[in-house]
Amino acid sequence: MPEQSPSERTKLALIGIRYDENSSFTKGAADAPPQIRAALRSDAWNLTSENGTDLSGESTFFDAGDIEPVPGSEMSTLIENSIYTLIADGLAPISLGGDHSVTYPIVRAFARKFNNLSVLHFDAHPDIYDSYQGNRYSHASPFARIMEHRLIKRLVQVGIRTATADQRAQLRKFGVQSIEMRDLTTNLQLEFDSPVYISFDVDALDPAFAPGVSHREPGGLSTRQAIDLIQRLKGKVIGADIVEFNPRMDPLHITGTVCAKILKEIAARMLE
Ligand code: MN
Ligand code: MN
Repeated sequence: MPEQSPSERTKLALIGIRYDENSSFTKGAADAPPQIRAALRSDAWNLTSENGTDLSGESTFFDAGDIEPVPGSEMSTLIENSIYTLIADGLAPISLGGDHSVTYPIVRAFARKFNNLSVLHFDAHPDIYDSYQGNRYSHASPFARIMEHRLIKRLVQVGIRTATADQRAQLRKFGVQSIEMRDLTTNLQLEFDSPVYISFDVDALDPAFAPGVSHREPGGLSTRQAIDLIQRLKGKVIGADIVEFNPRMDPLHITGTVCAKILKEIAARMLE
């Protein structure tokens, strides 16, 4: 088969989600999208991923702009419809920013096209509370909603180091494969036999690498470990989000660059 020319290859869509109303402890994740875009386009580095995929061409990313709350409309509907519009146009969306509650409406949109999705979820937290502080749409609950509505076939979590008894019961109930930090093995290679959506909560990384998050949880993945997991995974990556980056918690301006690096590596996998 001839190699795809850049104009024929999958076109990725970037869409910012400026929304943190479901963040329980502190706000700021709504400010992430412009910071990640600026880091991605910085002249401090190039737009080639580690495997040599050139992401710099005009046609690589379609930038769909940002969505933000509009008075009188339901944000989750706005998110689902915006993502679905991109998918229906033949684009592969990567969402930037927001608290982790945004992943539920995003996955609803993907599930309209893919009936056998797998999700690879990077996080310090399982985010599978039935409800948190009385909010069923909390950023601590998106995977409870995704699993109870059977939107996906398989959920694999990595980086987990905060699972409570309640959450462990939920993980068992929904048959989630949750790989905790304390059990993480070197050279882990995850294999998927159905399309993979990557949901990347930046607090999966150790706060030493990515301090700009609302919930710093020591003992996390190194940036290198996360990149290795993305590069090694076997499967077809069809979409992604990078959530929970909180620029207000990022005094050294490190975390935006980390998000952009992760974005480059995920984008390269999506273009395979
Ligand atoms: Mn999360
Ligand atoms: Mn988290």
